[in-house]
Amino acid sequence: MSRIILEARDIRYRYPRGMEAIRGISFHVRRGEKIALVGPNGAGKSTILLMFNGMIRPDSGTILFDNVPISYDRASLRTLRKSVGFVLQNPDRQIISPTVYQDVAFGPTNLGFTDEEVKEAVEGALGRVGLSGFGRRPPHHLSGGEKKRVAIAGVLAMDPDVLVFDEPTSGLDPSGSEDIMELLDELNQQGKTVIISTHDIELAYPWADRAILLLNGRILQEDVPDVAFGNPELVRKARLSMPTVLELYLELGRRGFCLPERRPKTVLDMLNVIDRAFRNKPCYTQPGSITLFDIDSSHDTDIPGWCAAHPGVPVGAMGTRAKQRAADEKIWLDFTYGVIDKCILKALLGEHSLIIVTGSMVGRVHERVREFCRENQVEIQVSSLSKRHG
Ligand code: ADP
Repeated sequence: MSRIILEARDIRYRYPRGMEAIRGISFHVRRGEKIALVGPNGAGKSTILLMFNGMIRPDSGTILFDNVPISYDRASLRTLRKSVGFVLQNPDRQIISPTVYQDVAFGPTNLGFTDEEVKEAVEGALGRVGLSGFGRRPPHHLSGGEKKRVAIAGVLAMDPDVLVFDEPTSGLDPSGSEDIMELLDELNQQGKTVIISTHDIELAYPWADRAILLLNGRILQEDVPDVAFGNPELVRKARLSMPTVLELYLELGRRGFCLPERRPKTVLDMLNVIDRAFRNKPCYTQPGSITLFDIDSSHDTDIPGWCAAHPGVPVGAMGTRAKQRAADEKIWLDFTYGVIDKCILKALLGEHSLIIVTGSMVGRVHERVREFCRENQVEIQVSSLSKRHG
């Protein structure tokens, strides 16, 4: 198990002229984890997150970073904020400069980077959020999702270990929300610890490694999401509703069906539960295959040519740069979120699919397909597209 990177120990806080917002909370976050603080408005989520980079100091209790209590002098806070980046709920409050470049450059410039280092940090960060080439644009002309990405790039430019997001999907449409959640997944895959607050339990459920359910400044429940969100009374108490697939699973269990032990997180998992529950013979005989195109291992493969040669084969992309590549090559994407599971679903119907993927996500695809095949005793081929096949 990895090291604890952030910890709250019995913290309490009352806003000046307000009621007690945090009433004795303790929990920890491990390096590399994806943590979701979930609860209704006013539960205390933002207040806790603001404590993690020292913007609010608890009245009592301690916040520890890397097992050391936070100090609140200017120099210590500066060092802390280099390690714990905070993305505000409203990007308009975070973006302050007339151009995207200047805005993203703000942090590294303040940290005393040279012009050359600033340029490298800004271009790197814009690339990681899929906004390469946006440097000269005025931020107030961008869409909500793009502004959010600028705010994220501004934090990434300082290369923090931990990324804290207050309501990362607020104000975004469903597709924009899914894109942001996928970006958070990608950043986590690249080694960042990611902590979010949200009241969107459906988004948090398949995403988080652990969830902390909050109400009125206290923790109601802290566990892996299928346990944290699996108690109907607690979920109702927190004025939330249970994730749909989890609710279906529990309902089937209550009706006496024999179900797999692992609780479903996605539609694919749920389908598996239903198949088992009703002892249906699956309606497919020979599963289809999944083809991977790793944009980092072969640059000259003709993807549009491959797509033209395989009409009707659905295409998904995983990773910001993979999506950018697809856009550059004018390839229509059928899937941009939950791509692996959607391709497995296709394979189960005997259909083939293509995933355009960044190098860092290739292992993830193999792992997920292998795990699914092992659990369900099916065989789905995953092959790589190289120039030879192009
Ligand atoms: P959440 O992020 O879960 O919506 P918050 O942390 O923003 O919750 O708020 C927790 C509690 O603190 C709420 O009761 C809220 O009204 C109160 N609160 C938040 N900010 C302030 C403030 N600046 N002044 C006074 N009370 C505040």
